Amino acid sequence: MSMTIIIQHSLDENIAKKISSKFQVFNTHIRHKIVSANLDDLRQQYQIDFNYLPKLDLSSIQLFVSDMDSTLINIECIDEIADFANIKREVGVITELTMQGKLDFGSSLFKRVSLLKGLSVDVLDKVYTQRLSVSPGGRSLISFFKTKFIKTAIVSGGFTYFTNRLVKDLALDYACANVLSIENNQLTGVTEGLMINAQAKSDFVKALCDKQGWSYSQVIVVGDGVNDLDMMNIAGLSVAYHAKPSVIKHVDIIINFGGLDKIIDLFNQ
Ligand SMILES: [Mg+2]
Repeated sequence: MSMTIIIQHSLDENIAKKISSKFQVFNTHIRHKIVSANLDDLRQQYQIDFNYLPKLDLSSIQLFVSDMDSTLINIECIDEIADFANIKREVGVITELTMQGKLDFGSSLFKRVSLLKGLSVDVLDKVYTQRLSVSPGGRSLISFFKTKFIKTAIVSGGFTYFTNRLVKDLALDYACANVLSIENNQLTGVTEGLMINAQAKSDFVKALCDKQGWSYSQVIVVGDGVNDLDMMNIAGLSVAYHAKPSVIKHVDIIINFGGLDKIIDLFNQ
């Protein structure tokens, strides 16, 4: 069976020459001639992204869902907040282990947020304006979905302070995240309301689809951590973006080298 492999890189002459000895090259994608080609080997060898063209009919997609921290944006917000309390290292280690699936998300969030108790809320604005950037290709990707009339959502185990600002800056359609409790302009060290863990992320996507009358197969989900796997599992297409090894092995599309705009390649075949 022949499948299409997408080379997610502008083909410079050197790469084209190397690859065309093995594959037929058509513009930026190639027709797979060798059934047993190992995409992991190709990725390692050329240090660019290779994926199979999805079998899913992408013209049916209605919703794009992105995780926030280390996916749509370049940072883990909680680690940067912690930096203003001089505990970035301590918090960062917990965040990393949690995203790898080595710590329970709920107790990890509880612990990390408790360490932020007493910090001024001004820190949140500093993190947003001084530390946070949209990941490479992220703005182009969101613009692309708008041209396709595909709705966009940010679903995060991080905080509404940041998702709300991103909704405004990027004109996203929907958001879901944890609420940081604030009193007297200081973080109280807890969150309010329903905790947004892996299950809650997935539930949010399901509820949105149910409300709008979309099937879950009409959703693309991109993320990088194990707490994205539940919502990835229900989606029509799951994309791992510079993700943890424990995430990569469960998804349809892997982006390890390029930006978020590599997702556009899947539509342009
Ligand atoms: Mg993340």
